[in-house]
Amino acid sequence: MRCPHCGTIEDKVVESRTLANGDAVRRRRECISCNYRFTSYEKIEEQQFMVVKKDLRREPFDRSKIEKGVVRALEKRPVSHMQIESLVNEIEDEAAILSGGTREIATPVVGDLVLKKLEKLDKVAYIRFASVYKHFNNLEEFVQEIKKVGID
Ligand SMILES: [Zn+2]
Repeated sequence: MRCPHCGTIEDKVVESRTLANGDAVRRRRECISCNYRFTSYEKIEEQQFMVVKKDLRREPFDRSKIEKGVVRALEKRPVSHMQIESLVNEIEDEAAILSGGTREIATPVVGDLVLKKLEKLDKVAYIRFASVYKHFNNLEEFVQEIKKVGID
């Protein structure tokens, strides 16, 4: 954390304490550079954001669903668990940001986010995911998509 006194971002935690109600942790920190002491509070994200489905039903964003889809698309691809983990982290973080003040995000926005990330990581996985997600109507559309990402 950035020292409020000198701006150095390295510090050490000198004391951690869970607050009485249990929903926050208070940490006493000391700046490595100037020894200034300050306090940070860590809170649990209390309000899960919601995914709005096509029929307008809402359900809490489910990270494990995203992970399942991503893992399936990446099956037997040269991608590590760490890469998958950080990909899902990025998707969750960006979805949380996109949900904005309403704390709601539409299903297609989440889907596009996953596609965008997969396209960067692995083109084959991208096509696999897209073929399920976009429900290509015919071979032509499928071929178009493959040409678009440049793996034909
Ligand atoms: Zn400092």
